[in-house]
Amino acid sequence: MTSKTLEDFLEAGIRELKEQGLFNEVDPLESPNGPQITLNGKEMINLSSNNYLGLATDERLKAKAIQAIETDGVGAGAVRSINGTLQLHLRLEEKLAAFKHTEAALAYQSGFNANVAAIPAVMDRNDAILSDELNHASIIDGCRLSRAKIIPYKHSDMDDLREKAKEATEQYGKVMVITDGVFSMDGDVAKLPEIVEIAEAFDLITYVDDAHGSGVLGEGAGTVKHFNLSDRIDMQMGTLSKAIGVVGGYVAGRQSLIEWLKVRSRPFLFSTSLTPGDVAATIEALDILTTSKDLQTRLWENARYFQEGLRAIGFDTGKTETPITPCIIGDEKETQQFSQRLMEEGIYAKSIVFPTVPRGTGRVRNMPIAAHTRDMLDEALAKYKTIGKELNVI
Ligand code: PMP
Repeated sequence: MTSKTLEDFLEAGIRELKEQGLFNEVDPLESPNGPQITLNGKEMINLSSNNYLGLATDERLKAKAIQAIETDGVGAGAVRSINGTLQLHLRLEEKLAAFKHTEAALAYQSGFNANVAAIPAVMDRNDAILSDELNHASIIDGCRLSRAKIIPYKHSDMDDLREKAKEATEQYGKVMVITDGVFSMDGDVAKLPEIVEIAEAFDLITYVDDAHGSGVLGEGAGTVKHFNLSDRIDMQMGTLSKAIGVVGGYVAGRQSLIEWLKVRSRPFLFSTSLTPGDVAATIEALDILTTSKDLQTRLWENARYFQEGLRAIGFDTGKTETPITPCIIGDEKETQQFSQRLMEEGIYAKSIVFPTVPRGTGRVRNMPIAAHTRDMLDEALAKYKTIGKELNVI
């Protein structure tokens, strides 16, 4: 048998993906990622960013980042556990703990890194992890790295979780239940009160990835706070790249957990820490979020307005409970065509189809953000209506 070369492997793989229409190529933006963007010379209304509060281009954050670069430089120079810990990092972690209503918090270089850091730091091959089947890819990778037995449960199905929790606790050492706080494809919220009850009945470790809930639910503090469960969830993970508008991730919880992560989580130990500019901008974002609810109010007003507008035209927005707004078209080809037509008409809203979501549930996913004006949303709704009629989907 002759072994395949890398070139053979890549060529065959790319060809196959292209044949299946799954080879994603992206054009770079010619503008910042704000409520409007410029792409291929064309100005478009942007309904595809996670910049929920519009902070990614906020002048106050930019000023703090520039100031920190002037005083502390562009890089932290080392990993946290050698000498890449600046005063700024500690200030950020104090703010994060206060924001999440926990004893302590630890910052990572991204939300993805936070998950692949924290899960394997506490779980090992003798353990089991009960994981919602729709959990984010970084949770799945974190679980795999831990070598624990991964037991998926049906999406938000509490009977399935209870049954699997009972079985797992009889067979394994530690057992964790892990869930997204807000699910990014449908915008539905995890049933945290029931999850906590099951966890307490079976002594499970509780872990919530609140990438899409922080800054959005619970008056900004996230899904756990929304349900008033701050002292009953063991590990709260979040990202600094969505509502916060910058980059980075974190885990918040008890002091002992954070102490352990500092000595046992590999991205903390072996990957250079967040840059001073990013940290300073993040601290400013947290200050804004905790002192004023204006941006959240605007986000929710825009989200409700856009969702009601879509439903009034005759579209199905699924089971969203958050600003994440799926517009469900169904058929994969029609969905892609719909998104393509929106793009041609100056509305940037991406289609999401199988295998990312189940077959026959293709949708255009929209993220109305605080920085959209009513005029922008009205224009997008008008285009939805015209194209919906043109393609016979309403
Ligand atoms: N968890 C969830 C649920 C997410 O949606 C994302 C971002 N797509 C992440 C984690 C990763 O966060 P980051 O982009 O900061 O790496």
